Amino acid sequence: MSNISLGIIGGGQLGSMLTVAAKKFDIKVVVYCDDKDGPAQNFCDEYIHAAYDDQNKINEFVQKVDLITYEFENIPYQTLNEMNNSKPVLPKPSVNRIIQHRIAEKDFVNKFNIRTTRYAIVEKKSDLEALGDLLPGILKTTTLGYDGKGQYPIKSHDDIEKLNIDFSKEYVLEKLIKLKQEISVIVTRFGVNSYEVYEPIENKHEDQILKYSEIPANISENILNQSKEWATLLAEELKYVGTMCVEFFVDRNDNLYLNEIAPRVHNSGHLTINAFNVSQFENHIRAVCKLDKIPLKKLSNAKMINLIGEDILHYRQNPKLEKNQFFFDYLKKEVKKKRKMGHLTTLI
Ligand code: ADP
Ligand code: MG
Repeated sequence: MSNISLGIIGGGQLGSMLTVAAKKFDIKVVVYCDDKDGPAQNFCDEYIHAAYDDQNKINEFVQKVDLITYEFENIPYQTLNEMNNSKPVLPKPSVNRIIQHRIAEKDFVNKFNIRTTRYAIVEKKSDLEALGDLLPGILKTTTLGYDGKGQYPIKSHDDIEKLNIDFSKEYVLEKLIKLKQEISVIVTRFGVNSYEVYEPIENKHEDQILKYSEIPANISENILNQSKEWATLLAEELKYVGTMCVEFFVDRNDNLYLNEIAPRVHNSGHLTINAFNVSQFENHIRAVCKLDKIPLKKLSNAKMINLIGEDILHYRQNPKLEKNQFFFDYLKKEVKKKRKMGHLTTLI
């Protein structure tokens, strides 16, 4: 029986899976979420529904817990920092400040000679016109993007006029990479030079949303080692505590590029629930709650498919699953187009 009370900010599927992992250790879980229907309320001990800038509710939340973690990176730095003045927030808020801004993130990564796509900041339309050598490219909002939201593929200067871009926001223009593959490396850091690293996962996106993840990734030994090395180096340099994910591109010449860091558990790691002795969620809980680190063992190869929008309906009707298949329903009330509703993992 544990007497830890853990606060989790965000009550979606990642918050739910973190909660389930924490309950295994009898940890009390209080979830804070701005969605009254957040699915984590089905699993946690207490669910606080309020806006992320509601000072009274935030104070109430902080008082109820011993430490705080989060399921998504777009929480205002100020909010996390204030919470951290009363109770430890892990990973620490300074990590978030770097990662939630695409330029700060890339500048940070490049300091360690880790390759990223070529990029430039775009604050106004004329900036874009002067950046012809980054075309074709992808224009991305510098903050608050996920699942391809806030992104505009730009092939040529003509597209700039057509796209009706809202220049009140700040953007980064990234050169488009001719992708051979996308992979991600999930690492849990417990403290100085203390890690568990999962093998690279191969990911396939459709409409810029993750659709399939699979292990083993079909990559060279070189890419395997380099991606794990870069992910661990970044976790160490960030003095990270908990589970994080590093997304990479592999181009047609087998060059590895860092795409982005997610300072949290990640969709591509859902297969770790069934394919490893310890999942990314359990490892996150172990790291932030200072529980034992146990050596990671792979139990099986695996393939995960995201059930997006109406994909879920078929699985909700209790279809017959094979013994090696595991269906997860995130229990979201409303089925929406492009919304992640559940996933299916098949051990192979
Ligand atoms: P998000 O924050 O929405 O996950 P990403 O930057 O990871 O945004 O982009 C989503 C997906 O779009 C990537 O996984 C990749 O498939 C594609 N993409 C993004 N940037 C590039 C790029 N520079 N070159 C090629 N493909 C890209
Ligand atoms: Mg991404």
